[in-house]
Amino acid sequence: MEKLNFGAATVERLVEAEGPSFFPAFILPDSTEDGIAREMDWLLPHFHHPETGRFWMSVHSYIVRTAHHTILVDTCVGNDKERPSTKPWHRMQTPWLDNLATMGVAPEEVDFVCCTHLHVDHVGWNTRLLDGRWVPTFPNARYLFSKAEYAHWEAESGAEAEAAAGHSGAVDDCFADSVLPVVEAGQVHFVDDGHAVDDQLVIEASPGHTPGHICLNLEGGDRRAVFSGDLMHHPVQVAYPEWNSRFCVDPAMSRATREAFVARHADSDTTILAAHFASPTAGHIVANGARCKFQV
Ligand SMILES: [Zn+2]
Repeated sequence: MEKLNFGAATVERLVEAEGPSFFPAFILPDSTEDGIAREMDWLLPHFHHPETGRFWMSVHSYIVRTAHHTILVDTCVGNDKERPSTKPWHRMQTPWLDNLATMGVAPEEVDFVCCTHLHVDHVGWNTRLLDGRWVPTFPNARYLFSKAEYAHWEAESGAEAEAAAGHSGAVDDCFADSVLPVVEAGQVHFVDDGHAVDDQLVIEASPGHTPGHICLNLEGGDRRAVFSGDLMHHPVQVAYPEWNSRFCVDPAMSRATREAFVARHADSDTTILAAHFASPTAGHIVANGARCKFQV
């Protein structure tokens, strides 16, 4: 993705990993082969990998620089994290932090870290391993978490909840290693729908994928963008907003939120910046007969 301009603000993308990823039927259990085949003319070449039958996907962050602030949106999987249930993410090592520096952002310069939700692939670089402890990666940043989102995962991560679910917190516990340490450092600000991060960037509640999922609306120079997190995992959901991912916590609410989002942004000038859409990533929702498509 090239650097985008929205008045005084710029947006860049920082990739942690990209390539053939999930099989469609796994990530989108509601999907059908026929339905995907019907959209293949625009899913290729960017969003599908015919050789393997897998979706082409990405894990990335966005760096937003406004006139006043440097803001990170989502922080990927992170390095050194214990993620035994997801092999490629287990004790992962990537140059994400070095690449951030190459883009001209030192960790000390980040003013805000916004997590669209608190899933494992959106909170990882909140912390890094230093002398055997998880410490905030961005020492001067205020981390913005949705109040509803935090309440949900706090309840899920408690010892009693884990015992009821039949597993211990030692398995892929991103709440413990990537969320709690920044809370304990006093760097978290809990936010609600409508919170203005900056005069150009405002939080909007978009619950369903997770209970407190948020989007961020950016405005500048008569242009608009929305950081949509995991409201959609793959562009094919623009055509089929009724298809949930297997990771959606509330299927009915997730579907309703996604359908309303696609209807609202269809044929508008809003640039959609999702968390897992592969390169070139940025695009618009446009009408395509009875359905919509994603136009890069
Ligand atoms: Zn995700």
